[in-house]
Amino acid sequence: MIADKQMKCCICETEIDNGMDYHNPAPLGKSGDVCCTYCNITKVLPVRIEQTRKITEKMSKILVNINKQISLLNNNEINSVIQMIKNRRTELSMAAGSKLSVGQKVQFSGRGMIVKGRLTKINQKTAIVSESNSPKQWKVSISLLEAA
Ligand SMILES: [Zn+2]
Repeated sequence: MIADKQMKCCICETEIDNGMDYHNPAPLGKSGDVCCTYCNITKVLPVRIEQTRKITEKMSKILVNINKQISLLNNNEINSVIQMIKNRRTELSMAAGSKLSVGQKVQFSGRGMIVKGRLTKINQKTAIVSESNSPKQWKVSISLLEAA
């Protein structure tokens, strides 16, 4: 962003003149603070990259752990885990469905194309979408729908 008034970098306290670039220092600084380009590159971006790395690392630790646990299961236990995953899917679908309403414009991608239309019916796990400018109706898994 380009400054339209005099500002101060919240990190090095350099004055940022009108017309100079300034940046959002988050997660450093407080809300409303700005920082200079130098601090953005040398301080802010490395912190953001590190945050993303930690989130990815945490996620893959969880998956490695789950995989380890799965490798110890027998057939009956695997069936139980499959049921747990199905239950969680349903839970996620229902949460997504509660944000949808009949008449809303939605889109989804299927067979390599994006279909846009209006929601005409919402079921527990699926919804009926009437395609725009077409008589076609689609029965779609709720988890695939996005607001359009
Ligand atoms: Zn600075």
